[in-house]
Amino acid sequence: MEQLMKDFFLFLSKNKTLNAAAKKWGLRFGASRVVAGETIAEAINTVRQLNQKGLVCTLDHLGEFVYSVEEANESADYCIKTLEAIHQSGVDCNLSLKMTQLGLDISRELCMNNMRRILDAAKKNGNIFVRIDMEDYAHNEVTLEILDELLQDYDNVGTVIQAYLYKSADDIEKLKEKKVNLRLVKGAYKESPEVAFPNKADVDENYKKIIKQHLLNGCYAAIATHDDNIIAYVKQLEKEYNIPRTQFEFQMLYGIRPQSQVELAREGYKMRVYVPYGNDWYGYFMRRLAERPANVAFVIKGLFSK
Ligand code: FAD
Repeated sequence: MEQLMKDFFLFLSKNKTLNAAAKKWGLRFGASRVVAGETIAEAINTVRQLNQKGLVCTLDHLGEFVYSVEEANESADYCIKTLEAIHQSGVDCNLSLKMTQLGLDISRELCMNNMRRILDAAKKNGNIFVRIDMEDYAHNEVTLEILDELLQDYDNVGTVIQAYLYKSADDIEKLKEKKVNLRLVKGAYKESPEVAFPNKADVDENYKKIIKQHLLNGCYAAIATHDDNIIAYVKQLEKEYNIPRTQFEFQMLYGIRPQSQVELAREGYKMRVYVPYGNDWYGYFMRRLAERPANVAFVIKGLFSK
């Protein structure tokens, strides 16, 4: 049943008609529990409140299914405005974004130009770090190629490696030389068993494997998970191999396990909250429901509250 629900929400997350409609609805169905607001000002306000609790943040201006040059450029402009707002407000925060948002499905050149504009703005606004989120498998290789090209000119960029893909350990080995700052995750998209582990236990095992591999390679790791077993595993690695706390951070999503976020910060770990904002919340929200169909309860409540 749980698997059926997961597949259902992942299927819904790709529905372009609902995605377009949701932009006009405002934050509905309880989405405000996991999305920080629709405007930059609301997002910065949330980040400030999280900073006061000892949490650092990464802001993500939500955007998916971008198929026109205008939309892609507008999305990049939004990212730049977000960087300026981070700098001007003095909050402790960096930026996360997606390649398809910047026009990757239109042309690689368009996406690359937008990415360079963003990274230049990030440099200008206090050398803010920019993380390229990893999307579905169809975009995986091209995202890594774009990163490789950007690393020739920028040191404030990194990406994400997904433990569910068979290729991830090899990718980490390839990125070792360049000491890339990587976010390590289990993986959020529906992938074929030809490219990804179908069983959760295998994903968890591979997740542990790549975390250890990347840390022992001496590279910076952002371990992005809500899974207590994985967090305990990282703490165990820290002790066993004397890994300095400056070499890694934990990350969780806004609105998910907020108490655990604060506790990790109190224990002295760097804890970064991924804070999405904007009116293009639909796909992101559906993927969060797919991860935990139990959360559908707050959708039902949301149906009656707004
Ligand atoms: P799971 O095995 O899914 O969950 C472990 C436990 O965590 C659960 O038993 C439950 O107790 C708790 N939990 C998990 N999810 C929820 C929830 N929604 N609500 C309440 N409790 C929950 N994926 C990508 O493919 N690309 C990315 O770029 C990417 N970036 C991410 C950035 C951050 C900061 C985070 C935290 C995740 C990101 N993900 C990304 C999503 C990731 O791949 C997983 O889909 C997601 O984190 C769920 O896996 P988990 O590690 O939390 O463990």
